[in-house]
Amino acid sequence: MIRDPENGPQASHITQLPRDAESSFADSDSPTVALSTGAGFFDHTPQSLRELLASWKEPRFRVDQIFTWVYRDGAVEYGAMSNLPAKLRERLAGELPLFRSEVIQKQRSNDGTFKLLLCWPDAATSECVLIPDGERRTACISTQVGCPVGCVFCASGLGGLQRQLSPGEIIEQAVRVRQLCGSNARLSNIVFMGLGEPLANYRATLHAIRTINADWGLGIGARKITVSTVGLPLQIRRLADEKLQITLALSLHAPTDELRRKLIPWAERVTIEELIEACRYYFEQTGREVTLEYILLGGENDQTGHADALADIVHNMRGNVNLIPYNPVEGLPYLRPTDEAVNRFLSTLKGRSVNAHVRNSRGLDIDSACGQLRRRESSKPVTLGISSLANGPTK
Ligand code: SAH
Ligand code: SF4
Repeated sequence: MIRDPENGPQASHITQLPRDAESSFADSDSPTVALSTGAGFFDHTPQSLRELLASWKEPRFRVDQIFTWVYRDGAVEYGAMSNLPAKLRERLAGELPLFRSEVIQKQRSNDGTFKLLLCWPDAATSECVLIPDGERRTACISTQVGCPVGCVFCASGLGGLQRQLSPGEIIEQAVRVRQLCGSNARLSNIVFMGLGEPLANYRATLHAIRTINADWGLGIGARKITVSTVGLPLQIRRLADEKLQITLALSLHAPTDELRRKLIPWAERVTIEELIEACRYYFEQTGREVTLEYILLGGENDQTGHADALADIVHNMRGNVNLIPYNPVEGLPYLRPTDEAVNRFLSTLKGRSVNAHVRNSRGLDIDSACGQLRRRESSKPVTLGISSLANGPTK
């Protein structure tokens, strides 16, 4: 069985991991940033900011004022915080930057989907997306710069992992996306489906989930938060033990280990059975059904036999299925499935009493998926078409 690569030293078991991925996992269980130095505002909880302001000899109530300005009122600079003394505002601006990213690209799709490319002080870039759908406004955010997994069909993993994102950098994406909603609307959902593998940056992801969920933070209900993972059984169990009410989405993509290994390098050392066992544990601990994501690749995994085998798997757990018609990536050999194949697959699942849906593509006229805009901007030789990590929320 695979040892989860989050736990540093065991990463060496996974022969297919790029070297940079291994070393970054070694660090991923220690704080990604030291909170008192070099951190931005969004890395802080009220508790840690209280400690910082106490060392500045500021009264405790300042912390509540600042958190209210940022998360409730959407302040974008300390200068706007009119009930803070000017000296404190100056010190905060100098020592605890509010936004650390610069928006270097903003794309709007005909269907209202927005995509932002953010640039961090070290020149690393990450992507985040706003997907409006009626009353629902979903932010799709990234957890890593690049991705260490390298699924054969995905744009995000093409250049490997550049670095982990810090908690503050993950949260800042959600706040940036919220700004796109305008003053009358708020974000309703968050999906961790952007660049990277959230459970391979566990601590930062969990910190971000807690802040996004907290009353003092973005205040988004746990059930409106979805974490999508390629499947790390130990980390799924660890997440289950947090007993959060968030939705777990497992990127299964194939009903047999043999086929899954062709698509997902990290499936080399983990079986579907181990993953489903971890999903059962997640359900036992949280009472939350797990969503199985299944990307439909034309001619690869979209036949009736695959659907039947997938139904057998779902019958062994409490889960539902999200079918994702592949959005082709230029330069990669995979095809979008035909509408007929998608419908047949869906009705086979439904005929077997599986709760299944097809996830609609969004933002197809822009670089809709995480991974693509960033690659385009970095003008690497591979030219990418539309991929769709941000195809829409799973729920
Ligand atoms: N690394 C995590 C989360 C980010 S990917 C994971 O793999 O689950 C989020 C989802 O987008 C995954 O299910 C992934 O398989 C899917 N995806 C990636 N590239 C895609 C593409 N070109 N078209 C459609 N879905 C894609
Ligand atoms: Fe990484 Fe997810 Fe893309 Fe696979 S599908 S390469 S795990 S972002």
